[in-house]
Amino acid sequence: MKQNIWGKNLPELRTLMKELGAPGYRSQQLFDYMYKRGILHFDEMAQLPKALRNKLIESWVIDFPTIVREQRSSDRKTAKLLLRYSDNSLIETVLMNQPYGYSVCISTQVGCAVGCTFCASGLTGLQRNLTAAEMLAQIYLWQFLYDIKIHSFVLMGSGEPLQNYDNVLSFMKMCHDFEGLTISYRNMTLSTSGITPKIYDLAKEKLPITLALSLHAPNDTIRNQIMPISKWYPLPELLESLQFYTQTTRRRVTCEYILLAGVNDKPEHVAELAQMIRPLRAHVNLIPLNESPGIPYRRPEMKHSQEFCEQLQKQGIAATIRKEMGTEIQAACGQLKMKFVRDNA
Ligand code: SAH
Ligand code: SF4
Repeated sequence: MKQNIWGKNLPELRTLMKELGAPGYRSQQLFDYMYKRGILHFDEMAQLPKALRNKLIESWVIDFPTIVREQRSSDRKTAKLLLRYSDNSLIETVLMNQPYGYSVCISTQVGCAVGCTFCASGLTGLQRNLTAAEMLAQIYLWQFLYDIKIHSFVLMGSGEPLQNYDNVLSFMKMCHDFEGLTISYRNMTLSTSGITPKIYDLAKEKLPITLALSLHAPNDTIRNQIMPISKWYPLPELLESLQFYTQTTRRRVTCEYILLAGVNDKPEHVAELAQMIRPLRAHVNLIPLNESPGIPYRRPEMKHSQEFCEQLQKQGIAATIRKEMGTEIQAACGQLKMKFVRDNA
């Protein structure tokens, strides 16, 4: 079976060239072809000698996903791709044109094992982890497709990044180190449902990334109903791990809170929430629910969400309602994939 070359960095390509008996500078040429020019067939790498190309073709492949569907929002600020990897797994990635640059929403797993009751990615369970190279392809695909430079990314597609810890960490290091990509750690956001022991591990890496916690509830009773993971990692220990994270990395965390009508958006929840996150000095991002078939919740009226936000602010919490992007293209986690699978059933 052929081995995959996509995702190899320059030193790894150098080693490979040595093994194939080619001079060192060929590795830079190969690197530039793949990652700077998006040439993903050895045949088309005209600068490489024919004999070397043949050796590569014999034992190696450039394993890169194909596009199944592409959607763009009418304001052209958001686009979404449904991708198919070589084992036929389907995942989604979203591009957002932000005032500060292009930002990508990355999927870290095919499906997700956590099973939050409001999330399309959790409906079908976990199929498998994505490799670092497969995550990297999500960044490069956008760069190649629109000839743009990616400024930042959020790990907010399907999957729980901290349940695919090693691959996610390698991926972030690649994005930081790869010549021509060099995304700064400050422009990377890792969102987690709260895998407490892994938050300690991540803190010890001391990377200046942004950590976002999907909090979504003012107490464990409500959290248990909507996020089954909280039975394993209850709030008191989880919040303690976030304190440790903030102290160790000197980076403030963000809390995400999806407003679910009648579930976690009542007036009494404001004070409870404020009290819980005040010691963290975290910013709260209130997220209007993306409604979709199979998800048994409703999004509150905008007026009600604004009221909830103002009440939090009155309690001294830095809260904002997340600007919506991509609702019309089913941009929330897993929704386009569900639609595709349904339409093609
Ligand atoms: N598994 C990680 C990261 C992926 S989910 C996590 O849960 O944090 C990324 C974000 O999308 C999370 O905050 C998640 O709660 C949110 N999300 C999931 N389903 C959603 C929906 N239907 N509407 C709005 N946000 C949703
Ligand atoms: Fe998994 Fe995140 Fe969806 Fe929960 S919200 S099921 S953790 S992807």
